[in-house]
Amino acid sequence: MTLKQKINFFKSEAKRFIAIHGLINYAVFFDSDENPECRASCEMPDSNRQLTIGYNETWLRQTDDCDEISKTAYHEVIELLLAKLRLMASEKESYYSNVMIDEEIHRIIRLLENIYFDKIKKIS
Ligand SMILES: [Zn+2]
Repeated sequence: MTLKQKINFFKSEAKRFIAIHGLINYAVFFDSDENPECRASCEMPDSNRQLTIGYNETWLRQTDDCDEISKTAYHEVIELLLAKLRLMASEKESYYSNVMIDEEIHRIIRLLENIYFDKIKKIS
């Protein structure tokens, strides 16, 4: 696949997972995000219910694994699913640090990836 085809595949997979999870009350935008530590990103939705899902073009150029591209899109959609929880847990009076919250959210995301991703990738 060309880079453009991989970007379009990432976007269409994210849109499909958003629809499957009923997260349809957001205006979702996509943009490249070249943070070298992340394959992709999910910005916290703002009060206008807009958010941007980012994809790392450097990573996309290096991979030809469609399952990994799809799973990365799934990961960001689960980040969106848990975004409000992350926001609530990160209130400045929170007992927990942002690192602890991020670890717990990623424990849940990896669990969902490992249990459901193979099933959900087949749903259209
Ligand atoms: Zn994540």
